[in-house]
Amino acid sequence: MVKQKLVLRFPSSLVEQPVIYNLIKNFDLMVNILRADINPKKEGRLMMELSGDESNFRRALEWLQKKGLEVMQLKQQIIWQEDRCTHCGACSVICPSGALVLNRPEMTIRFMEEKCVVCELCLRACPARAMETLLDSAI
Ligand code: SF4
Ligand code: SF4
Repeated sequence: MVKQKLVLRFPSSLVEQPVIYNLIKNFDLMVNILRADINPKKEGRLMMELSGDESNFRRALEWLQKKGLEVMQLKQQIIWQEDRCTHCGACSVICPSGALVLNRPEMTIRFMEEKCVVCELCLRACPARAMETLLDSAI
């Protein structure tokens, strides 16, 4: 049994292909979509958790790469650059999982990575660019 978080980048020619359907039907994998930015006629990006039998998982990765998708492993979900953080609290308001919390009365941010679901909302909300996604190289 394998469980991995991946990011798939689709060239515009493949954006409308039923990739998820095929991962489930042909490779018997479970797909949990964490985030999707897919626009017709533009490059797409899909962040997902994929789980299932190891050989099916490997075959699915080969299939994705042969189709022309770039497959990246989400090695470490989100990192908090504490030295850049101004503790403004904007991320704690938007974080859906409670991974970013504003401690009171100190008014300092605490990041609990184990609660993070990699939605990336904090990346856009942070004016100091203190939140980052760390991706491994293509697999
Ligand atoms: S990526 Fe989403 S869940 Fe994780 S810390 Fe940022 S807002 Fe919270
Ligand atoms: S939004 Fe950015 S600067 Fe503000 S508290 Fe969150 S991580 Fe720190």
